[in-house]
Amino acid sequence: MARLLIWALIGYVLYMMFKGRAADKAPTEKRVESEETHLDPVCGMYVTKEDAVVGRLEEKRIYFCSMACLEKYRDALENKPAANKSGGNA
Ligand SMILES: [Zn+2]
Repeated sequence: MARLLIWALIGYVLYMMFKGRAADKAPTEKRVESEETHLDPVCGMYVTKEDAVVGRLEEKRIYFCSMACLEKYRDALENKPAANKSGGNA
C-alpha cells in the first residue's frame, strides 16, 4: 500500500513539473503582446498607456515614462533644427 502511495506522489510531482514548465513559457510571452505598451524614445523603457505621459507631436502620440523624458524629447526636437540652422548659416 505504501509503495502505491509513493508512486502516486512521484507521478504527481512529475506532472506538476511538466505542467509548470509548459505553463511557464506561454503566459509570459503572451502577456507582453497582449498588454499594450509603448516605447519611450528617450530612455527606451516600455510604458503602459495608463502609466504613460502622453506627448503629442503633430498627429502622432508619443508615450513617455515621465514628464522628465517628455521634456528631454521636446528639448531634443527644438535643439536639433536650431543647431543645424546656425551651423548652416555660419
Ligand atoms: Zn523615459
